[in-house]
Amino acid sequence: MLRLYNTLGRKLEIFKPLKKTSVGLYTCGPTVYNYAHIGNLRTYVFEDILERVLKADGYRVKRVMNITDVGHLTSDADEGEDKLEKGAKRENKSVLEIAKFYTEAFLSDIRALNIAVPKILAPATQFIPDQVALVEQLMKKGVAYETSTAVYFDVTKFKAYGKLAGQSLKDKMTAARKEVVTDPAKRNPADFALWFKRVGKFANHMLHWPSPWGEGFPGWHVECSAIGKHFLGQPFDIHTGGVDHIGTHHTNEIAQSQAAYGVPLARYWMHGEFLLVERGKMAKSAGNFYTLADIKARGIPPLAFRYLALGAHYRSRLNFTWESLEAAQNGLQNLYNKIHQLSWDLKELRGIDLGGIVNAKPYENLFNRAINNDLNTPMAMSIMQTLLGVNGISIPEKLTLIKKFDRVLGLDLDKSMKLVPSKIKKIPKEVRELAKKREEYRRSKQFMQADALRKRIGELGYTVEDTPQGFSLCPLHQK
Ligand code: AMP
Ligand code: ZN
Repeated sequence: MLRLYNTLGRKLEIFKPLKKTSVGLYTCGPTVYNYAHIGNLRTYVFEDILERVLKADGYRVKRVMNITDVGHLTSDADEGEDKLEKGAKRENKSVLEIAKFYTEAFLSDIRALNIAVPKILAPATQFIPDQVALVEQLMKKGVAYETSTAVYFDVTKFKAYGKLAGQSLKDKMTAARKEVVTDPAKRNPADFALWFKRVGKFANHMLHWPSPWGEGFPGWHVECSAIGKHFLGQPFDIHTGGVDHIGTHHTNEIAQSQAAYGVPLARYWMHGEFLLVERGKMAKSAGNFYTLADIKARGIPPLAFRYLALGAHYRSRLNFTWESLEAAQNGLQNLYNKIHQLSWDLKELRGIDLGGIVNAKPYENLFNRAINNDLNTPMAMSIMQTLLGVNGISIPEKLTLIKKFDRVLGLDLDKSMKLVPSKIKKIPKEVRELAKKREEYRRSKQFMQADALRKRIGELGYTVEDTPQGFSLCPLHQK
C-alpha cells in the first residue's frame, strides 16, 4: 500500500491510480536557459524515486516532462524578460541554440545522477496548437479576456482559486495588489497571462506564432496544462514539482485546466522541498547556486549528491554544505566497500554451506514499508545499512536484497558487487591453501596453529578475517 502526501488537501493519502496497473505522471521540467543547479536536481531526484517506487510496486509508469523553451518570464508575476531570450542575449546565440545546448546539459546531469530520462520529453515550442486550443477554450467559457498586450485568465471566475496553496482568493488578491502591474487593462492584479502578444516590450520577441489574438507566444503555465492533457488525458494521476510551484505555477495550471474542461488536471500534487545554501533557497537569481560540474570539479562523484539527497526526506528542507557532501561521499564509499567485501567473501566461501540462520524477509518488508510511506528514503537507507551489519543472514541473500533495494535507490550498488577477476586470480594458490588450512585449525579450536598461519598469510601480503560464515581474504593494501 503506497501512501503519498497530497499538497491538495495537505495530507497523506493512500494512492489509488485511475487505472489499475498504470500511472500517469507529469513533472514540470527545466527552463533551459542555463545549467540546472543542484537544488533543481534535488527535485528531479525526488521525482525519480517516485517513479522507481511506483515501478517497484508493479505499475507501468507513463512519465511526461516538459522542457520550457519559451514563455517563462524572469518573474512569476508575468513581469520581466523571457528567460530564454535573456540567455540567448547573454551568449549571443539564437533561442533555439540556447535551448538545445542546455537541454543536452540537463540530460547529461540527470543521467550522471541515475535519474531515468522520462520517455516523453516535450519542449513547449512543439506544442503550440495544444496551448492555443486551451486558451481558445477559456475564451469560449468567458473566463479569459483580451487586452491590447495579452490574454489573461480572470481569477475571480474560478472559485477554488488558491486552494492548492491554502490561500483564499481574497488573500491572493491582496498579495497581488502589491506587485507591479504593467498592463493597466488587467481586470484583477492576480490575473495571469495565457498568451503574450508580440507588441510593446515583446515587439521583438524572437519566438512567435499566429493565434486568434495575433502573433505572440504562450504564458508559461499554459504549457504544462496543455502538454499534460495531450499525453496523459485529464485528469491524470500525479503532478509534481518543487514547492516554489505551489503558489503560482501549479495554482494557475489547476485553475485554467479545470475552468476549461470542467474536470481537475491531476489528482495528486506532490512537491519537493528546497535545497538551501546558508539557510536560504538555492536559486539562480540569488547567485548562490552550485552545479553538478562544481561537484565534479572537486573530485566528488555525482552519485554522492544523490546519496546526500536520499538521506533527507523529500518534504524536508536540506541545507547544502561541502562538508555534508563530503560526508555523503564517504558514506557511499563505505557502502560500496561493505558490499564489495561481501562479494569477495562470497567468492572465497565457495563450497561452504551458506545457509543463513537469520531470516532476511523482515528487512525486505521494512524497506518496502519505508519507501511506500511517502518515499521515506532516509529510513530505507538505514534499513539497508542495518541489513548489511546483521550476522547470520547468508551473503547471497544479502546481496540479492541489496540489488533489489538499489532498483529504488539507484546508487549503482551492484557495480561494487562485481569483482575484477584479475584481482581475484592474483591471490596465490599458496595463500588460499593456507587460509583453508587455518580455517580447519580454527574450527577444531587449534588456535595457536591458526594464528601461526594468519601470520604467514600476512607475510605473503594478505589479510584473513573471520566472518560468521567463514573466512575472508583480501590483499593487505585494500584494508
Ligand atoms: P526551473 O528550471 O527553474 O523551472 O526549476 C526546475 C525545478 O527545480 C522545479 O521543479 C523547481 O520547483 C525546482 N527548484 C528550484 N529551486 C530549487 C531549490 N533550491 N531546491 C529544490 N528544488 C528547486
Ligand atoms: Zn509546469
